[in-house]
Amino acid sequence: MVRLTRIAFFAAVALAICAAVLLSAGGVPAPARAATASAPRPPITQKYVPFGAKRKAETAAYNKRHYHENTFALTNPKVVVLHFTAGAQWQSAWNTFAADSKYMSTPGLWEYPGVSAHFIVCKDGTIIQCLPLSLRGRHAIGLNWTAIGIEIVQEVPSGNTGHWADQQILHRTKQIDAVLRLVRYLQGRFHIKTGNVTGHAMANSSPYFKDYTGAKNATGDWVKQDVRAFRARL
Ligand SMILES: [Zn+2]
Repeated sequence: MVRLTRIAFFAAVALAICAAVLLSAGGVPAPARAATASAPRPPITQKYVPFGAKRKAETAAYNKRHYHENTFALTNPKVVVLHFTAGAQWQSAWNTFAADSKYMSTPGLWEYPGVSAHFIVCKDGTIIQCLPLSLRGRHAIGLNWTAIGIEIVQEVPSGNTGHWADQQILHRTKQIDAVLRLVRYLQGRFHIKTGNVTGHAMANSSPYFKDYTGAKNATGDWVKQDVRAFRARL
């Protein structure tokens, strides 16, 4: 009995010491976490697409069908998805996002809401925000429930691949620097791991991918080797 009591006492002391160590460690963030957490917000131009009651209801219905979550609210996002626009002008992407037109999920299944990412990054590095970060966009099948979408302006002339387009962006200094600043800021704000900064072409293999209708992405924007190059620069 006495012995047990002593063991219990030592155990309690050990726990108290561990708690103290944990508390003090918590007060001094590790350098890697501090660097991410302190990433400043880059200049962002807000130009929100219309998102009224109709689009909110469409978004909640889409999320109910695909994710069994009847909501349009984005909370605690865990993924960033990189895209490119396939057009040379940010305006055409923005107009597509604003239109709220039916869009195809799988062959033959056309659904509302219209597509939209949260941001568009122009070739000169201008960052345009299209959606508040509290709303779910529709930009990557299987991930819209937890993903922030970034469209990067890059056209794809016929005969070129997604990899070619990714490479144009990776070598356009002003634009890629703006995307990196934006992603670092989002990672710090939402504690998003670098491994969860992914490309649309990789979305089906994300650990966060889920879609109860069986839909999958079939796109060529941001293939694995280019996402790896991007992650290495974060
Ligand atoms: Zn895409």
